[in-house]
This record gives sequence, C-alpha cells and structure tokens, in this order.
Amino acid sequence: MPIILDGKATAAAIRSELKETVAALTARAGRRPGLAVILIGEDPPSQVYVRFKERACAEIGVISEAFRLPASTPQSELMALIDRLNDREDMDGILLQLPLPDGLESHPFLGRIRPDKDVDGFHPESMGRLSLGLPGLRPCTPEGVMELMRRYGISPSGKRAVVVGRSNIVGKPLAYMLAAPGKDANATVTVCHSGTRNLADVCREADILCVAMGKPRFITADMVRPGAVVLDIGINRVNGGLCGDCDYEGIYPIASAITPVPGGVGPMTIAILLRNTIKAWRAHTGMDQES
Ligand code: NDP
Repeated sequence: MPIILDGKATAAAIRSELKETVAALTARAGRRPGLAVILIGEDPPSQVYVRFKERACAEIGVISEAFRLPASTPQSELMALIDRLNDREDMDGILLQLPLPDGLESHPFLGRIRPDKDVDGFHPESMGRLSLGLPGLRPCTPEGVMELMRRYGISPSGKRAVVVGRSNIVGKPLAYMLAAPGKDANATVTVCHSGTRNLADVCREADILCVAMGKPRFITADMVRPGAVVLDIGINRVNGGLCGDCDYEGIYPIASAITPVPGGVGPMTIAILLRNTIKAWRAHTGMDQES
C-alpha cells in the first residue's frame, strides 16, 4: 500500500512551527508580520481562498488586511493600491488573488508588486531568481510540493521526474525546483504539455510524477509506473465535489506514495504562503540572523 502524503497534517505542522516563530520574534521585530490580500471581482472560489488565507494568518499571528474591489475597478486604481501597499512598512507581503476578472491581464500588476513583498513568487524577478538558483521568494504551490516530499523523506535526487503542465504558477517553477542542484532536488526532469506526443509513455518513465493539468482524473493507472511517487496538484470541481487530475482509486494500488485531493498539495500552498510572509517579515525587520 502506498504512503499517503498527508498535506493537511503537514501543513498544520508547518503552521504551528510558524506560529512559534512569530511568537518568539515579535517583541524583537517590534511588530507582527503583515499580509495584504487583494481580491478583484466576485469569483466564488477566489472568495473562499481569500477567507482561508485570512483565517490561516489569524491562526499564526500574522495581521492580514483584505482589499475586496469590484470587477469594474479601473487599472489605475489597482496600480495605485499596489503602490500604497508597497510603501506600507507594516505590510510584508502583497498577494493579488488570481484569476483576475476577464479583460484584466495579471502580468502588469504582478510586476508592480515589490519583489521583496512578492509572497506568491510570481514577479518576474522572483521567477528569474528561481531559474538562476538565487535566493528569493518561491511560488507557493510548487514549493509546497517540494516541502511535502522533504517532510516524507522522498528525495528526487537522481530520479526521473515528469511534470505534466507548464503554467507559470505551477508546472514551470516546479520543473526548475526539481532540476535544481542539491540533495532535496537534483532530478532529471521532463515537462509535458498539450503538444506532448505519447503522454502516457512519458508519464510511465517517471519515478516522480507531478500533475498540474486542470483535467479531472486524466492520469490513469496505465500511465503510471508501478512504484512511482504521484503528486496530484489538480483541483477540479466535479458534481459538487473536488477531485484531482489523477484517478486516485485506480493509481493507489500501484503507487509507492500518493497525494489525495483534497488534503494533499492544496493545504501546502497556504502554509508556504505563510512561510514566505514570515520570511519577508524577518528580512524587513532585520530578524534574518535571529533564531
Ligand atoms: P493551466 O491551465 O494554467 O495549465 C495547465 C497545463 O496543463 C498547461 O501547461 C497545459 O498545456 C497542460 N495540459 C492541459 N491538457 C493537457 C493534455 N491533454 N496533455 C498534456 N498537457 C496538458 O493550469 P494551472 O497550472 O494553473 O493549474 C493546474 C491545476 O492545478 C488546476 O486543476 C488548478 O486548479 C490546480 N492548482 C492547484 C493549486 C493548489 O493549491 N493545489 C494551485 C494552483 C493550481 P499547454 O501549456 O500546452 O496549454
């Protein structure tokens, strides 16, 4: 039977560690960490995610401030809000909840966030730093995948990793992370997308199969090598419930480790967002050298 990679429990452990860090450092830092969350429009899943983020911040002692703006907000107003938050000393992180309403391109706004406050890791500088192997704030979902493997003692080093999906927020940064030097990474990585021929054959080569397609239960057992580690990043709403991009029930008997959906990679994303916020706070308050 495979190891079930329990993201819910792992994320709870990370939150509790972060809570201790905040409690230990707040007096010396002179203030608590702050996270600004901007939500444009009425997208129901985004509203739920923002509420989760506010709750998670409160739990560990981060002050969060949510800015809920109508879909009709002029671009200049959103830019001005980001500028004000960039200048606020009490806000260590700025998060722009995606997707933006139709007609609003995210890149100009993500690029306006100060890189040292870019807790989602989507700024071109953050992505550039990741690709160059320089320190910086990393995108939360792929970093959550890497952290989940670390905490379960799964080393990608020397293994064949296949990432299905090449989006800027998941697939592409995850491929960089897996291929980076170092014992926690160091994998040989193949990235698949809609132009990949013989996807099933490529997936079957994977010791570590990471799937971020947004296609419910697309990856089936016949596409998985027996003994593979399967990390299902997809979150799909089907018939009122949630499922991943992998056929969990079919793959379970042959995998060596697998993430459930929900309760796998999903909770890790918010835990890493909090960790990035604490990292930014430590840098902003000169606490980097403290324990
Ligand atoms: P995108 O739609 O941006 O990217 C999907 C990727 O999958 C694209 O690169 C696309 O290829 C590829 N793809 C689609 N169909 C196929 C196919 N038939 N064969 C091969 N490749 C294919 O999605 P995201 O990366 O934003 O999200 C992916 C999933 O992860 C979604 O379910 C999303 O909800 C979930 N997600 C989960 C998060 C979490 O916290 N756990 C956070 C973010 C996302 P191409 O580039 O050619 O179009």
